[in-house]
Order: sequence, then C-alpha cells, then structure tokens
Amino acid sequence: MYLNRRHFIAALTTFGVTACSGTAPSSQPLVTRGLPPDLLPTENAGFTSWLAAFRPRARQAGISAQTLDAAFAKAGYIPGVITRDRTQIQTRRTLEEYLSIATSDERLAKGRAAYQRHATTFSALQSRYGVDPLIIAAIWGMESQFGEKRGQIPVISATATLAYDGRRAAFYESQLIAALRILERQETTPQRLVGSWAGAMGHTQFIPTSYQAFAVDFDGDGRRDIWADDPSDALASTASYLARNGWRSGLKWGAETGTGGPDGRTIQPQRGGVRFTVTRNFNVLKTYNNSDLYALGVGHLADRIGGGGPLQGSFPPDANGMTKSDRLALQRGLAARGYDVGTIDGVIGKLTESAISAFQQSQGLALTGTATPDLLPLLR
Ligand code: CA
Repeated sequence: MYLNRRHFIAALTTFGVTACSGTAPSSQPLVTRGLPPDLLPTENAGFTSWLAAFRPRARQAGISAQTLDAAFAKAGYIPGVITRDRTQIQTRRTLEEYLSIATSDERLAKGRAAYQRHATTFSALQSRYGVDPLIIAAIWGMESQFGEKRGQIPVISATATLAYDGRRAAFYESQLIAALRILERQETTPQRLVGSWAGAMGHTQFIPTSYQAFAVDFDGDGRRDIWADDPSDALASTASYLARNGWRSGLKWGAETGTGGPDGRTIQPQRGGVRFTVTRNFNVLKTYNNSDLYALGVGHLADRIGGGGPLQGSFPPDANGMTKSDRLALQRGLAARGYDVGTIDGVIGKLTESAISAFQQSQGLALTGTATPDLLPLLR
C-alpha cells in the first residue's frame, strides 16, 4: 500500500455539526442534511481526550491555535467512518467484472461527453504535463464518475476519527496534519474541505498529503481548488501527479496482447482470461492506486473514451458455469419480466440476486438467488 495515495470511493453526502473542540464538548444542535445518522459527528469522550493530546502535536507541526479552533469548531467523531473502515473488505471482483463496471455504458457515455466538454482543458494539460489526457479523464471517471461523486464528509472529522481510532493512527494523523495545513494556508475553508469517508478529496480523490505534494493551481486564480465544480485544478493536479511519478510522454499504458500495442511485459490477472502487455506507464498508474485491476480499468476506460472498442479476447465461465453473455442474457430476461436487476452489465450484484430469488419464487423453484445456467431457458 502506497502511503501517498489511497483509493476510496464514497458516494456519500454528509455534513454534520457538533461541538467537539478539545476543551468544550457541548450540546450544540446537530445540523443534518438528510444524512445517514452514523455520518454525523457525535460526542465521544475518548475522542475528546485524544483531541486534547493531539493539539500540541499539531502546534508543533506548525498549525496555529486559530486554525485548530476553526477546524475543530464543528468537527468531531464520526462513528460511520469507523464502521466503513472496518468493513471495507471489498467484494472481490474478477478482472472481467471489474472492467465491465469500469467501462459500463453509463460511464462511457458520461466520459465521452465530459471529454468533449472539457476538450480545451485536456488539450492544455497534455501540452503542459505531457500526460495522455484520456488517462486523466479515465482517472476522473474511476474516482468520482466525472465529478458526480466527490464525497461530502468533512475531512477534518473523518481523518481525526481515523487517527483517534488507532488502526492506522500514524497514517491518518499525517493526513489530518496535511488537511489542517490546507486550512492554515487558507487554500479552502473548513466548510468546503470535504471528501470521502477516508479523507480522499475532490474530482480525482486526492488524500491531503497528495494534495500538499502534487496539487496545482491550473486556472491561475491563486488557489489549488480541487473541490470546485470546475474540475480544471483537480485534473491538472492529477496530471502533475502522474508526470512527477514518471509518466513517459507519448508511451501508451499498454494494450491487449496481440493487438499491435507497445512492447512491455505480459500480465494475465484472471486465469484463462485476456492477456495484456503493459509498459512502464502502467506502473505509474499503479502509484495512484496499487492494483493491477485499477490500472487496467483506467487504461481500458481511457481507450474506450477515446473511441476504442471492447476487448477482443474473452474470459472463462464463472464458478457457476456462466459466461458474461450468459449473465447478460439472464439480466435482460429478468428485466424484461419486470424485475429490477440494477445495471445490465453482466455483473451479478445484490439486486440481480434478489431478482433471481423473486423469479425463482414466482416459478415455484428452490430459492438460491444464484445466477446458474438452468435459469437461462426459463428466461428466454
Ligand atoms: Ca485555481
């Protein structure tokens, strides 16, 4: 795990207020904006003690008392952050599933539109940083669905909660200090300093230390504003990040093996599935998120936004003996009969499983909720 970047996606909206400064826990009213209650700051005696002990460390790191007071005036312990940290064992997706989600019809349509809409910015980014603008667009799409899901959780509360919790205390305390430094330098306000539950911020989900090291003011208004609706600074910051992590201009990330791509090493993340030949720029993508699946998702999404077609190779049937086209047929059959399967993407998630159970019930079949071949003839 690279400490300069962590990848989190949180499509959550939250803004909570409680008094939880080091000195004066009080009963100020909670302000809610339709949030899950577990994402509101709450009183927590252990956190309050921790915060009192933290303040001198922050002062030592150069954060003024004034900044600390302002930062923690409305910040506090958020129980839901801990719940999410403890249960983040992600669903293990196969590469085929991962790529299906990364390049869903919806994401492709949005990506192509966003790429057109910001064509001038992308072109300028390519000139200034030498990074493939399609790659920047793809990271934007993977991280926040092109700005739609930037996260609304107060970063001071989130990182302080995780620093207090202690599972990765040193890491999150460094993130908290970096977040406080953003306020110290008046690069944004406590109200606008929001992100995912783990403190990843803005269009391309920079953690505070990455912000400090790599964020840039691209539009020249004097602020490195990765939180703004205008994505220019955030996209440029991502280009800056990749350039400074060794992106080689003019070199593709890689390609499906045998399709005339660049030279490189060959990887096959899913047994029996598509092989890819990847270059050193693939390794640069992995500095953003240290995962082959993520880097392939970005690379393939970039290719697709740029007008490229789907992969030519195929993947083997899943553990139930279903290929992707079988799973698509199953989802389409259920949808045609009025069941809600979520996105028809060949990925069997909770909605599709519930739909299968409901269908099985309607047919007097055993309720397995599992996508198996015996269902296909019934759904044609
Ligand atoms: Ca700016």
